[in-house]
Amino acid sequence: MLIVLKPGTPEAVANDVMTRLRMAGLAVHRTEHDGRTRIAAIGDLGGVKADEVSGWPGVEATQKLARPFKLASRAFHPHDTVISVGRAAIGAKSIVVMAGPCSVEGEEQAFTIAEAVAKAGATVLRGGAYKPRTSPYAFQGLGEEGLKILRRAADAFGLSVISEVMDSQQVPLLARYADILQIGARNMQNYTLLREVGHAHRPVMIKRGLSSTIEEWLLSAEHVMAQGNQQVMLCERGIRTFETYTRNTLDLNAVPVVKELSHLPVIVDPSHGVGIRDKVAPMARAAVAAGADGLMIEVHHDPDHALSDGAQSLYPAQFESLVAQIRTIAEVVGRTV
Ligand code: PEP
Ligand code: MN
Repeated sequence: MLIVLKPGTPEAVANDVMTRLRMAGLAVHRTEHDGRTRIAAIGDLGGVKADEVSGWPGVEATQKLARPFKLASRAFHPHDTVISVGRAAIGAKSIVVMAGPCSVEGEEQAFTIAEAVAKAGATVLRGGAYKPRTSPYAFQGLGEEGLKILRRAADAFGLSVISEVMDSQQVPLLARYADILQIGARNMQNYTLLREVGHAHRPVMIKRGLSSTIEEWLLSAEHVMAQGNQQVMLCERGIRTFETYTRNTLDLNAVPVVKELSHLPVIVDPSHGVGIRDKVAPMARAAVAAGADGLMIEVHHDPDHALSDGAQSLYPAQFESLVAQIRTIAEVVGRTV
């Protein structure tokens, strides 16, 4: 149930409403919008009727939160969530560009790429140190050494860091080096991991599962938010379909759909979405036109020798020209880069 309080409701009255809801066994979350306090009361509503709550002091209106995701819904939180990370305000007018290698491979590689993407206009450096590889024989990442390199490379060029956390036990380690914790597509429904990042004091980016519906994806965000971490962004990275020419099918439908259902920022990763280098830029341009709040792009200076995802990685020069193009597209949709 959503409870909207009257403008200017004294804090003591608001607290009283929340206490009564908690006493009815409900989880209570609060947000402010348009000068009004909005309270989401979540749980078994058998003990408290909306009509009854409508009569409580301070209550202006009650409304059913009909969707299964509550805190992630625009019904609860009507205005766009903006997440500040270093120089980026993710979800605000400016589109955030996250770029870097699939995997951190070493100092020279990370610094070369970090310098190139920073020069082109990225503000967040991506790079995996713990890699979820389909084959156990493929490169699994440099681990903590990789995180140290990534952090140094980012700091050298004024960038923030995003990196994947694969396991709930790794959360404190990742939080030490990364500004944003990435939940990989394969882990979107790892609820133990979602709960753990829900307690971390770091923004979280949840990649859409390979075969997950938009509702399942938003419920994964809900798992994180229900633990108290509201700094969640979503990343469309392509889903499994019957099509085999491309690595995945980038579901750009998800961008306007999620923007309507939720207040959370939506990032698009066309690199994994399409999997073919020369198709990445067109899909990145389309993502911006569709209303994405940011892009995540794999970039490598020597993709033929990359230890993962070389075939979908842009050369630095291609990345630079892509950023120039999206500046123009951003303007058309009332955004900046
Ligand atoms: C990645 O970002 O390199 C990655 C492994 O992505 P996903 O989880 O979307 O496959
Ligand atoms: Mn990759």
